[in-house]
Amino acid sequence: MAITGGCLCGAVRFTAEGDPRRVTHCHCTMCRKAMGSVVATFATFARDRVSWEGERALYESSDIGWREFCPRCGSSLTYNYRPRPERIYVAMGCFDDPSAFPAGFHDFRADKVSWLHVDEDLPDAP
Ligand SMILES: [Zn+2]
Ligand SMILES: [Zn+2]
Repeated sequence: MAITGGCLCGAVRFTAEGDPRRVTHCHCTMCRKAMGSVVATFATFARDRVSWEGERALYESSDIGWREFCPRCGSSLTYNYRPRPERIYVAMGCFDDPSAFPAGFHDFRADKVSWLHVDEDLPDAP
C-alpha cells in the first residue's frame, strides 16, 4: 500500500511505494532548526520509490546535504545526504498517517534536548 503525504498548504504531495527502510529520530542542531521542532523524525526510502507532485524549493544546508521545503507554506519535506544519493529522508510530520511507522533509531542522541523524552529505549542508528 502506498504511503502518501504532503506539505501544510497541499501544494506539494508525495507518494512512496513500500515501507520505509528505516525511521530515525535525529536530534542534531541542523535538523532541529530546519524543522523548527525539537526533534526531526525521518523515514528513509530508496529515492526511486518516492514520487512528487508540486514544486519543491531546495536549501544546501551543508557540504554533505540539502533539504527541500514547500516554497509556498515553508513545510520541511526532505533531507538528502550527498554520500547516499540513492536514498531520500522524508520528514515524517508530512506523512498523512505517520502512526503506522514507529521510529527504530536515534541519531545524534548526544545533542538531544534535555527535557525531551521520546522512545528512550531505541538504539543509536548504526
Ligand atoms: Zn505547502
Ligand atoms: Zn539531523
